[in-house]
Amino acid sequence: MQLEKNVSLKSFNTFGLDQHAEFFTEVSSAAELIETLTWADENNLPVKILGGGSNILITGDIRGLVIKVNIKGITPIEETDTNVLVKVAAGENWHDFVQFAISKGWGGIENLSLIPGTVGAAPIQNIGAYGVEIKDVFQSLEAVDRSTGRQVVFDGHSCRFGYRDSFFKQDGRDRFVICAVTFRLSKTPAFQLSYGTVEETMHELGYVEPTLKAVGETICFIRQQKLPDPSKIGNAGSFFKNPVIEKTHYEKIKNEHPTLHGFPVGDGIKIPAAWLIEQSGWKGKRWGTVGVHERQPLVLVNYGSGKGRDLLYLSQSIQKSVFEKFQISLEPEVNLW
Ligand SMILES: Cc1cc2nc3c(=O)[nH]c(=O)nc-3n(C[C@H](O)[C@H](O)[C@H](O)COP(=O)(O)OP(=O)(O)OC[C@H]3O[C@@H](n4cnc5c(N)ncnc54)[C@H](O)[C@@H]3O)c2cc1C
Repeated sequence: MQLEKNVSLKSFNTFGLDQHAEFFTEVSSAAELIETLTWADENNLPVKILGGGSNILITGDIRGLVIKVNIKGITPIEETDTNVLVKVAAGENWHDFVQFAISKGWGGIENLSLIPGTVGAAPIQNIGAYGVEIKDVFQSLEAVDRSTGRQVVFDGHSCRFGYRDSFFKQDGRDRFVICAVTFRLSKTPAFQLSYGTVEETMHELGYVEPTLKAVGETICFIRQQKLPDPSKIGNAGSFFKNPVIEKTHYEKIKNEHPTLHGFPVGDGIKIPAAWLIEQSGWKGKRWGTVGVHERQPLVLVNYGSGKGRDLLYLSQSIQKSVFEKFQISLEPEVNLW
């Protein structure tokens, strides 16, 4: 175990926040992870698990140990004429894995192209985009249970996937470290093109028929137009989840604000958090070194030297205004550290 002390996490989080970890280490195998967790327990150190740092807001310096999961490997474990089961280690970069799958002709995750972060973090919030979520291709995952130090396997049912949610964000929070995820990908993919402008943009890019490559490139093109690149301006993608409200509440707001468009889900209506934030006057607002993105109000940004606590305060101020105006509580999608 190679342990470093007082390490800046600036290059390990996409907000680019310069907070420090008391102790920091990287692990490249499940055995090394177990050894490191045991050492932290023996030394009474709290532990935080880090992937690509694209879904965290570090609100201050971290006491204890940050473990970056760097376990690598992509292994097909079963193949039929129509499907492949592929096991991917937690430290693999998500987008690199999507590109690999596309190059092999394995479909199911092409709509999830260009989502930052690691494979191990993908089940935590059931990553999703353009009509697809990883629950749609999920087979199982292997994790270390921090309460026993043992390796355990979860199937899809026990992960309790929901909208940007899973067991690992609820009852299983901070208890399991994911080491590998197995996906069921298709050799005869059914393309999902109906979400937003995917089909139209694909044709504009010159593709007549959908292929894995065409869809993957279309998604990358759309995302590059829409979302700020964390390497240019610090951000963690969508900061809040889209809230689901009761139909009567939705109709009341819609009467006063005809530009609101909701989508029926279960027994409620999901509405865009971006719309609520914009209507509350926050779009493009800058507070010193942090702010709300000028085109995408769901994205909070660090202009360079911002602090985690400033972003936290900004996010809480947005929540307060939205609640006062619409009586809707916005829930952060980003994990607060
Ligand atoms: C520009 C941008 C666009 C984005 N677009 C999308 C999008 O379209 N859809 C979407 O769903 N998300 C999106 N995100 C959010 C983010 O990419 C995903 O949530 C991603 O899965 C986070 O991966 P990560 O490795 O960076 O996780 P981290 O930020 O490192 O960690 C996130 C959480 O997971 C925990 N964790 C990380 N790895 C493990 C592990 N191996 N075992 C147990 N716990 C772990 C951490 O402790 C933390 O609580 C976007 C982010 C950015 C910056």
